[in-house]
Amino acid sequence: MARIVRVEIRMVTLVPLVKRVDAIQSFVAQETPFVTITDTDGASGTGYSYTIGQGGPAIVSLLRETLAPLLIGREAEEIERTWRDLLFATHATAVGAITSLALAAVDTALWDLRCKRAGLPLWRLAGGAKPSIPLYSTEGGWLHIDTAALVEDALAVQAQGFAGSKIKVGRPHLAEDAARLAAVRAAVGDSYRLMVDANQAFPFHEALLRAHMLADHGITWFEEPMPADDVTGHARLAAASRVPVAVGESLYSPGQFKDYIALGACSIVQVDVARVGGITPWLKVAHMAEAHNLAVCPHFLMELHVSLVCAIPNSWMLEYIPQLDAIATTRLDIRTGQAHPPETPGLGIGWDEGAIARMTVPGSHHIISEGA
Ligand code: MG
Repeated sequence: MARIVRVEIRMVTLVPLVKRVDAIQSFVAQETPFVTITDTDGASGTGYSYTIGQGGPAIVSLLRETLAPLLIGREAEEIERTWRDLLFATHATAVGAITSLALAAVDTALWDLRCKRAGLPLWRLAGGAKPSIPLYSTEGGWLHIDTAALVEDALAVQAQGFAGSKIKVGRPHLAEDAARLAAVRAAVGDSYRLMVDANQAFPFHEALLRAHMLADHGITWFEEPMPADDVTGHARLAAASRVPVAVGESLYSPGQFKDYIALGACSIVQVDVARVGGITPWLKVAHMAEAHNLAVCPHFLMELHVSLVCAIPNSWMLEYIPQLDAIATTRLDIRTGQAHPPETPGLGIGWDEGAIARMTVPGSHHIISEGA
């Protein structure tokens, strides 16, 4: 056993590789807080989290002022106990996005450390269910992209062996969304999967109308049709829709997933390891989904999720959105449309320490250590 003696906090801001616009927002910057935890044996683990442009300084502040000091002196291997204690220490700000994102940076660092000490890659230590996972792409389906470019990208991704593409919906009139989907469907044929994502844009009546339209185009899932806090609305929609409903990227605790699952309000579980608070709660949600015969297709963070989806049996597809290239020396291992998890001990992401140092946001670098 080894105790935690040092916690380092940093944050970098990444610019997306392509313009990303959906029905409610434009994703222009990814704030990426890092936590590196070192134990008494000198072993260390690095974890991370993210925002889509707002809240990063609040996460760093919560880590520095509240969470990191509580880590010093703890047994690094007691991850469940630490996660519970940190959650309790912040109970008046939980469930909440900032708290979950901060917890995730700590929790993923502890899992990286655990895996490195065990000499195992995350996908094996967390379950070891499958050696690879099919990919689908979101990067060519943003809402501002014109129909010809949507078609071009879907064909290109299909030719690479990907299982499908995700198209953003939420154009002012249903007919526009329908025309865009019809064009892509005509180009890729019936056996290629098309998913759509509304990013919580619709009131119930519009979501219902669009769900009926989507069924005519062989859509695999209807993602975030309505605001995520409307669980009963999602249950009504799921009961009426011929297209499965997918949710998860805007849920911040296992309990929120429990409500969706218990009410039959979703068919695809898109649990996001950062937004749910780390690997510890991510696995609980994934296993809960398995017990209800539901597939897990996580949101975003493919570089980390590739290991988690290969740890569990009920994963289905992995979302392709590269986002760490500027600060990582490793790339997702893709072979004919299948992503393979890293076999190196830990999370398996090679960090470019020089790039992280150069890109660290001024004022975000803090070290909390024993005796300091
Ligand atoms: Mg989405």
